[in-house]
Amino acid sequence: MYRPTTPQSSLFDVAAVLPDALPKDDWSYLYREKILPLIDEEAFRPLYAESSGRPNAPIKAMVSLLIFMGLEQLAWRTAEYLFPRRLDWMIATNTASGEARIDHTTLFKFYQRLEGNEVARELFTTFVEAFIQTCGTSVKIQRTDSFFVHGWLRILSRYGLFKETIATFLRALRKHKPGLYENIRPELSQDYLEKDFDLTEKDKERAQRKVALMARDLYRIKTVFENHHQVKHYETFEVLCRVFTQQCQVEEVPEQEPKITLKEKPDTDTVCSPHNPDARYVRKGKQRATGDKAVITETCDPDNKTQFITDVNVVNITTPDARLQPELLDRLIDHGFQPDSQYEDAGFVTGETILAAREKGVELEGPVAGRSQSFDKFEQPDRPLDAADFDIQVDPDNGELVVVACPHQQVAKSQKRSDKTGDLLVHFDADECRACPLSARCPVHIGKRVATFRVSEAQYVGAQRHHRYMEDKGYRKKCAVRAGVEATVSELTRAHGARKSRHRKAARTKLQIIFAATACNVKRFLRTVQQCARAELETA
Ligand code: SF4
Repeated sequence: MYRPTTPQSSLFDVAAVLPDALPKDDWSYLYREKILPLIDEEAFRPLYAESSGRPNAPIKAMVSLLIFMGLEQLAWRTAEYLFPRRLDWMIATNTASGEARIDHTTLFKFYQRLEGNEVARELFTTFVEAFIQTCGTSVKIQRTDSFFVHGWLRILSRYGLFKETIATFLRALRKHKPGLYENIRPELSQDYLEKDFDLTEKDKERAQRKVALMARDLYRIKTVFENHHQVKHYETFEVLCRVFTQQCQVEEVPEQEPKITLKEKPDTDTVCSPHNPDARYVRKGKQRATGDKAVITETCDPDNKTQFITDVNVVNITTPDARLQPELLDRLIDHGFQPDSQYEDAGFVTGETILAAREKGVELEGPVAGRSQSFDKFEQPDRPLDAADFDIQVDPDNGELVVVACPHQQVAKSQKRSDKTGDLLVHFDADECRACPLSARCPVHIGKRVATFRVSEAQYVGAQRHHRYMEDKGYRKKCAVRAGVEATVSELTRAHGARKSRHRKAARTKLQIIFAATACNVKRFLRTVQQCARAELETA
């Protein structure tokens, strides 16, 4: 049952009982005065039944505890233990001595209620609004970056994946159908449920031999149980079938057992652990991860005294950054944090995202995706030409591209839009192109009678941005402001525990990251207010 926190102060209020216990400029007093009132308990009312059930623990205190956990990277039980022992927490949450009791189960259940709805995000937005207003922070310039949030799953090689998938299924089979387990066990190449179960095999040749045998075992299990009316519905069996289909192929051999071979590259979107079939594995440079991907945006106007995180989200780890760009911009606009310029790295910036952002009145800045960022390669005399090497003008009336001349100054014979793709098809004289010294580098397709150059607005804008980034030192210097977001990522991951997920479900990981970002903003805000107060005292 929903019960709001009483606004009346208790006789045993810590600040009243022990007025000098903490210095007057302690963060806890500032938190109580400036941040606690921002937590609107009414927003949490839909999470509780109107009239039945036990009344809830004080919501303001529980939300604050979740923020403190983000601030100090604490576990549930630690938060429960510390609450009645920390004067600063009691003062900050306006909790009387003796009433600071919220057990870890209550706190975790409250966290579960927040999962899957937008209350935590709305709270984050309310805080940001209040902070940027109080500190006079401008949102005109912002920067964005993404980082991996590692899950708890062990990264398995194909050897480990096969072994663990078979073992997980056999464990379930042994538990529910011991007779069937005893029947299948002698048909397999090894005892998968032996005690010393090692998921690694250092000897490469031995591992390859074993992987081939395990692929055959997967096939045997699949064929034996795929028509069994009960076993075929086991989740572990469905995962086993998926792993087999994604990793192996069956070659039919006449009058013999089919040949099982391993796919050179497994299918995309593959299961990487039988314990969480939704988890995905990615590799980026030296980083290998299974888990989720977090995206953060923060203000970065150099005139701002304090920068705040304005948006945070958690998505599937395999989602490309460029696909996240439009929705993160929409969120910023919806929440009233629309920037004029947004600085991002090459993962987010493409011709398409630049154009989509421009339509919303935002200029996306940074190097574009899909091109080498090597200056040496760009300056090489034999580098491939692109759309930005052509003389192209944009019609000011309708925004249409007009190709005036090619890099060899040949004027186009004709140009029209493709009915299928909408791309601009520009025709040049094929004989002239064949004789051209630039033809090996040129993107035109030289046919028998005509040479065709195909270009879209997005390709042109992307190529133009690439040329600007590679040629204009001043622009690169301007884009360097983006690098500051790496420090915020480092702060979130090292100081607020955002590198590792505490949960298996993506919705809970998202909550964890939202509270980590909220904690980071709260810390920055309190620090700024404390510094201003001290500066005022010194000048007085
Ligand atoms: S190949 Fe044809 S279109 Fe390309 S630069 Fe040479 S003349 Fe121009």
